[in-house]
Formats: sequence, structure tokens, C-alpha cells
Amino acid sequence: MSDKKNPKASPPPSPLIENRVREYVRSLEAYSVPQIPCAVRLDGNEAPLGLPGEVYERVAETLRGIPFNRYPDPEALALRKTVAALFGLEAGQIVVGNGSDELIAMLLITMGGGTGRVLYPVPTFSMYGITAKVLGLETVEAALDDAFDIDIESTLALIDSQDPDLIFLASPNNPTGNSFSEEKIKRIIEASSGIVVVDEAYCDFSGTTLLPLLVTAPNLVILRTLSKIGFAALRLGFLFAGEEIAAEVNKARLPYNINSLTQSFAELILRDPSFITERVRMVVKERERVFNALSYMEGIRVFPSDANFHLIRVQNAQWVFDELVKRDVLVRNLSSPGALRDCLRVTVGTPQENDAFLAALADIFPQK
Ligand code: PMP
Repeated sequence: MSDKKNPKASPPPSPLIENRVREYVRSLEAYSVPQIPCAVRLDGNEAPLGLPGEVYERVAETLRGIPFNRYPDPEALALRKTVAALFGLEAGQIVVGNGSDELIAMLLITMGGGTGRVLYPVPTFSMYGITAKVLGLETVEAALDDAFDIDIESTLALIDSQDPDLIFLASPNNPTGNSFSEEKIKRIIEASSGIVVVDEAYCDFSGTTLLPLLVTAPNLVILRTLSKIGFAALRLGFLFAGEEIAAEVNKARLPYNINSLTQSFAELILRDPSFITERVRMVVKERERVFNALSYMEGIRVFPSDANFHLIRVQNAQWVFDELVKRDVLVRNLSSPGALRDCLRVTVGTPQENDAFLAALADIFPQK
């Protein structure tokens, strides 16, 4: 293997990597988010606003009470009780994660004991597949239909033939933005003898949840996160499930996974979450405004969204991405062959940020 013909080719791995790193890890690409400095950042599906002043003051005040020399509460009990009260659950039904990313990993560590297969529709959130592969699990990809909804007949056929231990359904889905049909999700829950994880990372923006189904569906697990509604910096996600499943997943949790700052800040914030609801409302209103503006633009196809972002298709995604960066607007280029060909994902920002994005697009695509 000579690199002479291709000076850019990476050097061969050292024997240490070649002989000792798991084959399926070596063949993976690390999850990476391009860091390009831009004034308007609409690439990360974060909330556009920081803490309101008075909440910031209260959060700063709790900082004084944190014993920095001590480990955090390993069970995050006060936080779990606050969350339980908020969602009408028992604390024993809740597992906390360092972001829902960590809960996805805990589920995959816990649940490979049957066929070792994990099913998810594509395109969807990349960490289901990445973490499953890192753990050596077999991934089964199901199709979405033309409206990016679950292709129910082929998915049920895969569940029947592959019998996955775990199914991940992100609803609303990232990066397509739409919610999956509730009826189809219910059919999947009924058809599956493994666990069905409904990842509701964006449910605050769709206003729908399958949480009430936890009572009747013992194989349902729900994931939530604080990342999209204003607290990405805290890294906090929640898993809701029946107590038996929650207890098993909790065994895969690393000790002290939620640091003391996150535990006390989140508990304080979630005791009075009314300002979060207000802000979600603003994002939803802006989402509709941006959708309408994009719908009228020539050269752009915008897909309907129930989340805090839009998926758009253009003729040349890389070119549009670069042109937006030149105008100080950062979006996410998700273009790859197949369903996401020439697609960009654009987070809904503040009214000013959205105006800047729309003005940049109008500049790139002069309208006739
Ligand atoms: N699920 C979905 C569907 C997501 O889009 C994301 C974030 N991109 C996550 C989970 C992970 O969120 P976090 O780890 O920040 O809680």
C-alpha cells in the first residue's frame, strides 16, 4: 500500500490500532460537528435564547451551595423526584443521562441480549447506528416513505424476520423534522417483542407525546432531553419506562454521570418551567413564519416540520452552504446520496436570526 500516488491518503494504522482496536470501531467515522465561526448559528437545533435574567440570578445563587469537593448524588434523586412530579411518573421510572446520547448508549449496552439486532428507520439520528456499531450490534435499517413517515408494511416485515432487541423511532424525526404517524408507532409497539424507544427529543415543538402509553405498553421506552429547549450546555436527558426496564438500564449507568451543577440547576429550572413553554411557543411561531417564507422561494423545497428546524432541498447543497457561510449564516449540510441528497438542515432561531437567514437566501437566489 503506497501513498505516493495519493499524497492526501492517510497513513496506514499502527500495529497497535490494527491489532487491538475492534474492527467495527476502526471502520467507523467519529461523530463530528464542523465548527465554523458565524454570527448566525442555525446548525445545532439548539434553543436561540439563553437563560432569562431572573432565572440566571437564581441559578447563580445555587452555585454557592454546591459542595465542589464532594461527588454528586449518584442517584440524582432530588432531580428525578422533580421530573417525576412534572410528568406524573414514579422516580423509579426515570433514568438520567448525560444528554440523551448517553441514554441511547445505556439502552444499547443493556438490550442486546436476544438477537443482538437494532432497528431504526433511515434517515434518522445518527447516534443510534454509530453507538450500536461501536458495541458490535447488528443494525437493521427500515425505509421511510416519500413523506418521511414510517413505511409500515416493510417495517413490520423486518420486525417479523429480524426480531430486533431494540427499535429506535425519533418522533419528530431528526433530520426530516416530521412526526411519525401515531397509529404506525402503536402498530410497531404491538408487533415488537423487543423494546421500542420513542425518542421525543423534539416533542415540545410538536405538542404530542406517547407518554400516556407507558401505562399499557410494557415494551415502550421514551427519551427526552433538555438540549433543544434551552439547556444544551447542561447535558441532561431523561429515560422514561416501566420500573423493571428502568432498573435494568440503570445498571449500565456510570456512577455520578450527572454532575452536581447540572443536577441542581436543572432541578431549579424544572420546578418552574413556565418560561420554557413561552419560548417554545416563540420557536413554533417562527417555524411557521420561516416555513411560509421558504415555501415561496424558487430553488428551494422545504419539508413540513414538527420540530425546531427545517429540512430543505436545494440544487447544490454544498454551494448554498458555502454561500450562506459567506453571509455569516451557519446551517448543517446533510447532503448524502439517497433521501438526503442536496439537503440542508436549518434550526429555527430568533426572529432576527431567521430574518438574516431568509435575507441571505434571497440574496443567493434572486427571486424573479
Ligand atoms: N435524539 C435526537 C433525535 C436528537 O436529534 C438528538 C440531538 N441531536 C439527541 C437525541 C441527543 O440529544 P442530547 O444528547 O443533547 O440530549
